[in-house]
Amino acid sequence: MAVIEDGLGLHAVEAWVVDPNNRYEAIARALVPTTVGFILFHRAIQGEAYFGSNYMVSPRPTTRKRLKMCLHEYGHMTLHHITVPGGRDQSTARREYEAERWALAAMTAAGLTVTAAETERARRNVFCAVAEDVLSGIDADPEAAAWCGIDADDIDRWRQTYEKAKAK
Ligand SMILES: [Zn+2]
Repeated sequence: MAVIEDGLGLHAVEAWVVDPNNRYEAIARALVPTTVGFILFHRAIQGEAYFGSNYMVSPRPTTRKRLKMCLHEYGHMTLHHITVPGGRDQSTARREYEAERWALAAMTAAGLTVTAAETERARRNVFCAVAEDVLSGIDADPEAAAWCGIDADDIDRWRQTYEKAKAK
């Protein structure tokens, strides 16, 4: 499998050759979910899981930050490996919350101590997803909202903003 794309290559998981001296890449390789067949490593520091496929995109997980990003997509590929008929009928916040929790738990299980800053970044991601849901007219997932410090008043305020914008 030698498909070269976007500089760093599309890798069938079984052809992924890990730098044995890189602890983070070794952790990522060991944790590839069975639902992932192909990973495109690209240069951008962002990831993407393609729900309903066996394909995901990630920066090559050679640093701690990149590993966290890769694990987040593993979380999506493990937990949300479904095609949602009719498009977006599921809370983005719920998915983001579950993927963040999955990634942080995987880091802990791999022997890394999750830092306060990493937890904060994860919460910020979920915070944005809750806001996105509410402002798209989707019910906020209460557990996801609570996890990132959003209370019922915040949600009411955002929902009013959404209703006002919709009425225009
Ligand atoms: Zn995500």
